[in-house]
Amino acid sequence: MAVPRFEPCISLPLEPSVLEDVVPKAKDWALMHGAAMRSKTNFNPDSLQFAPFVLIPSVFPRKEFEKAVAIQEVLNELVHKVAHDRDFLVENLKSVIEVDEFTNKLFKIYETVYSEGITQNLSLGLLRSDYLLHCAADCAIKQVEINSIASSFGGISSHLGTLHSYVLAELGAGEKLKNLPPNSALEGLCGGMLEAWKLYGQEKAVILFIVEDVTYNICDQRFHEFKIREMAPKVKVIRKTLTEMSAQAKLGQHKELLVNGMEIAVVYFRSGYEPSQYNSSDDWDARLLIERSRAIKCPTIYYHLAGTKKVQQALAHPGALERFLNDADKVESVRDIFTGLYALEFNESGEKAVEMAMSNPDNYVLKPQREGGGNNVYGQQVKEVLEGMRNSQERTAWILMERIKPPVQKSYMIRPGTANSEGQKLVPVDVVSELGIFGAVIGDANKIISNKQVGHMLRTKISTADEGGVAAGLGALDSPYLI
Ligand code: ADP
Ligand code: MG
Ligand code: MG
Repeated sequence: MAVPRFEPCISLPLEPSVLEDVVPKAKDWALMHGAAMRSKTNFNPDSLQFAPFVLIPSVFPRKEFEKAVAIQEVLNELVHKVAHDRDFLVENLKSVIEVDEFTNKLFKIYETVYSEGITQNLSLGLLRSDYLLHCAADCAIKQVEINSIASSFGGISSHLGTLHSYVLAELGAGEKLKNLPPNSALEGLCGGMLEAWKLYGQEKAVILFIVEDVTYNICDQRFHEFKIREMAPKVKVIRKTLTEMSAQAKLGQHKELLVNGMEIAVVYFRSGYEPSQYNSSDDWDARLLIERSRAIKCPTIYYHLAGTKKVQQALAHPGALERFLNDADKVESVRDIFTGLYALEFNESGEKAVEMAMSNPDNYVLKPQREGGGNNVYGQQVKEVLEGMRNSQERTAWILMERIKPPVQKSYMIRPGTANSEGQKLVPVDVVSELGIFGAVIGDANKIISNKQVGHMLRTKISTADEGGVAAGLGALDSPYLI
């Protein structure tokens, strides 16, 4: 079936004279409002480039947007309960940890703190559930994944709707602004951290961000820091890498997490989700030290594990949702956003999945237990990779997912160096969009204290690209235009 096409919210192409006027304005608006990043190719910690963005907001069906918003609290509850179900995590990750060293190391931390006794029962979840539209007779959202660690772009995305309001007004389409939904992702995510800080109950304690050795997505992170200060002027935020933590952090008498004399109330991980973010065993020791501490973690190690691809696939298994959600409507609404997810175990259904994918590789995505983009396998490579590991235990650390084929629309992608003052030609290109909905949840094994849907993001990529990481260069920041 041909992939459907949405008409853009503004008739394209725009006149060259209009583009010449509005593009430099939009670029400067983006830079001046922090829709920006540090350059990877031309790194300088003292300068920023605007982040790639689309000039015109992409259309998104209102009904499906509202559905994604409405289901977030159910997903928060689900992830929270999964994270606290030790048997479920052990059972479903056991084959993965035999072959995947990274997940194994995370799991060992879980085993260690579990056997010692969990010091801090509260977990903070700042989640982002991602969707692509799948269109048959109608278009419906299908979940790509849910992130339980370092769910990014809540900071910058809160400004994208405002950028698009400005651009639409500049284009004389002010009457369209009513279709840009408000977005309070940043307040909501920071509100979650502040609620955790209050629950910790130490006036002088600070919030710690665990960051990469080099942060490219600095504006997004700093927006969180600055918003925390704005919302709660007495709360300090500090930033440390895992390596710095290994040298500077220790536990106090009551397992308080102490860094240079400061007590840490909340640890917010923006790093630690991929192997290369651990420089050495010292960094792993630092992660364990944090996990052992009294600080409230976002995420705890079991929340991190609950966000793995393998757990996502296990939740699609018949009967799994019922284990966590005791309301048939909730189960139904979650099942409705799932698309085909398959394990690749050495059993009958695993073999069937392998064969299904090998005979039709374009209809599937092969995913390892990794985060951060650029790890999945698509198209003919699905077949090749499966062939290569068909008889190897390694395949059980991957999951197979039905490929979602979202509707296409035209837009202008604006990136640093395009259509600049030298007048490179800017043309509309075919793009597809991925919606992310943010959730904030706090609680322990017995109860959920707070559970909220807090905002959204939209990322848009060239339609022919398999993935659309904004930092990776194929993706661009966007905001939804509801139709
Ligand atoms: P990561 O944790 O690395 O972000 P994802 O599961 O989100 O992993 O996959 C990365 C990207 O790959 C997504 O943002 C999306 O563009 C694409 N992708 C993932 N799963 C699918 C799918 N089932 N169908 C189509 N595209 C997908
Ligand atoms: Mg992810
Ligand atoms: Mg993703």
